[in-house]
Amino acid sequence: MHDRGPTPRGSAGGGFVSSSGTGTDEQVTVSDEAVAALVAAAEEGVDFERLQVAREGDGDEAVYHFETPAVTREELTESEFRDACSNNPEYVDNWWFFEGLERAPANRAFLRWLESGDAEDWDVPTRYDALREGIARSWGQVAVTVMLGAGGRRYELRHEDDVDTPLPELERREDPLAARELVKFDDRGRYRPLKTAPTLPTGWAFVGLDGRDCTHTLDLVYPATVANWHLEREGELDVNHWRETMERQTGIYGVIETWDRGEGHEHVEWVAGACCDDSQCLKRREWQYDDGTDLEAPGGEGEFPCREPCSLVVSAARKWTRLESEQPRTYEFELTPSEKDQIEAIIDAVADGRVDEIREADIYEGANRYRTRFLRAKRFDAGDLGGVPTDPEGEQTPTGEH
Ligand code: SF4
Repeated sequence: MHDRGPTPRGSAGGGFVSSSGTGTDEQVTVSDEAVAALVAAAEEGVDFERLQVAREGDGDEAVYHFETPAVTREELTESEFRDACSNNPEYVDNWWFFEGLERAPANRAFLRWLESGDAEDWDVPTRYDALREGIARSWGQVAVTVMLGAGGRRYELRHEDDVDTPLPELERREDPLAARELVKFDDRGRYRPLKTAPTLPTGWAFVGLDGRDCTHTLDLVYPATVANWHLEREGELDVNHWRETMERQTGIYGVIETWDRGEGHEHVEWVAGACCDDSQCLKRREWQYDDGTDLEAPGGEGEFPCREPCSLVVSAARKWTRLESEQPRTYEFELTPSEKDQIEAIIDAVADGRVDEIREADIYEGANRYRTRFLRAKRFDAGDLGGVPTDPEGEQTPTGEH
């Protein structure tokens, strides 16, 4: 997770270039719809971020109260009240955005977190000054900037590696549904089976989104992450641990059960360490072996939680369970110490996804292609390491997999 915190653009850690340039002089205007909603809400009374509004009496007798830290207006007619709204647009717009517009509670909380985060003590003028600058925040690998534009808050999403790329150099999108196709493949054209893998492609920007489209787009990039993040904040995240999730897997449980016969849970540590590490998935794993048995494998630092083993992990576990049902055998090979080191380096490079970073010229790197080919030429005989057959008695492994 690379959360830069709520950062005014242009300050350290921000540095976005928005569709409207750096910063804006955008003046806030309040829509008739927002004013009408506040007139209606005055009956119940409003007290939101130091905007206080109330109404006494009905019909022609009605008088309104309008108050902010800078202004107190009493006994207003409806027309005077509407003028007070227009003259204090930031307070009214702020109320309208967070309280007037209909939003799912998770989306509302997320949009507030985007711009205030831990800075809940921002007063409204400070918040709007920051919005004019643009406020940048990370959600997984997506950099989200909220800024003031025509019509109020506008959101821009792009890959965090593209924050310094001029907008014209990025593929510009405005429709959230475009995210579906955009995130299917990584930068090298490989299908991404896990949406929260840190392989989000670069080169695109969603611009001019309103709050609803911002959360919709993020939901297509990282499904359900905002909803689960919110449930966790509310103390309502329903976590399904490994055992209960596996017990629900009809047809699969029978296979995975072989790993769960009172033999401890080391195998689950291996699965979680292999798949759920921050280097492989941006979710923070909250599930454990079972309710009373925590895993030692780190859960990660991601902003959004993972509430149960995902289908990728379940299907990997299924395959690996089959492999784990094999009995170990003793093989005898001859390797030089450097060759043993090299095999370990190759396994590390593959597991850490570093193979493509190893240059052909780095022939001292264990996982260098030429050096690996040399090892194969020297130590393989008829496809077997050291010429030692995998199944010396001609037996197949139970799965036929090697
Ligand atoms: S189970 Fe692991 S790999 Fe799958 S989404 Fe959760 S944290 Fe990521």
